[in-house]
Amino acid sequence: MTGDVGKRGYHAMIFPAPGQKLQPIDRPLPIPSAGEILIEIAACGVCRTDLHVQDGDIPAHYPIVPGHEVIGRIRQIGPGVTGFQLDERVGVPWLGFTCGTCDYCLRGEENLCDRPQFTGCTRDGGYASHIIADARYCFLIPARFSDAEAAPLLCAGLIGWRALRIAGEGKRLGLYGFGAAAHLLAQIALWQGREVYAFTKPGDQAGQDFARQLGCQWAGGSDELPPVALDAAIIFAAIGPLVPIALKAVRKGGRVVCAGIHMSDIPGFPYADLWGERSIASVANLTRQDGIEFLAAADQAGIHPVVETFPLADANIALGRVRDGQTHGAAVLIMSGAF
Ligand SMILES: [Zn+2]
Ligand SMILES: [Zn+2]
Repeated sequence: MTGDVGKRGYHAMIFPAPGQKLQPIDRPLPIPSAGEILIEIAACGVCRTDLHVQDGDIPAHYPIVPGHEVIGRIRQIGPGVTGFQLDERVGVPWLGFTCGTCDYCLRGEENLCDRPQFTGCTRDGGYASHIIADARYCFLIPARFSDAEAAPLLCAGLIGWRALRIAGEGKRLGLYGFGAAAHLLAQIALWQGREVYAFTKPGDQAGQDFARQLGCQWAGGSDELPPVALDAAIIFAAIGPLVPIALKAVRKGGRVVCAGIHMSDIPGFPYADLWGERSIASVANLTRQDGIEFLAAADQAGIHPVVETFPLADANIALGRVRDGQTHGAAVLIMSGAF
């Protein structure tokens, strides 16, 4: 089955090497191999992980097209693909491939696969007009979300969802770092009937107002203690010193979940702060099952992703705003009209 793609090229932004800015590039349009689909991209979210790829904080393959919150429509289908049709809208997440044969894959923990490929990190991602994806890792997207709204669901939302599951069933949930992921997760947690306590950079009044507008019980600086002890806290900011701070905010038996792929070093702290069966956990990647469950929950909950859109050509500006914490909600690159 082949769509009428023609012999056009495609346009992308790449990181040539660690520590460099994005540069535009044109390449021949690839043809999907067995199991793959060619997607014309409509929108791609900008994630903090893209900054870690830019900075060389995590192992990536350069040159690389970043972006792992990809929304687009299928324009060509490779041999052997099932379950997708031409022109259907799909999302491409961070988890781009797993080996299927390592101990983790066999245990159903594909998020921990020993030989994975990650979109926008070890295989080319969505800061582009087109992407080739392994169809088995793509998701159908609920119709209620526009392309721009749907993009941040694919990492910010999904990783948040997995973190929430690891945080447990507790009612009082703290979120440290109120960016793209937290603003989506807060809406899900509130829909589940939880109380959400939002922690921003000290003095970030606008961020705290944003959290309260979304329905959070309380919002304050990360240097403040919440008015009640928390059942769990999730840390989205890449700031290691927040770990002992969050431990002080959770009750006995409470859990602190680190949701980022990279964090600065965690400083030493008294064992007494961990005592009382408090625990610290990290969240790595996602499984396809996480994606299916989260997208259904986001649809049911009717969450409203708040997005700030940029043309692809302004991707360096968008990255800068995410780096400086200037976006409320999620930054999203829009491809239409960019070529
Ligand atoms: Zn594996
Ligand atoms: Zn991400």
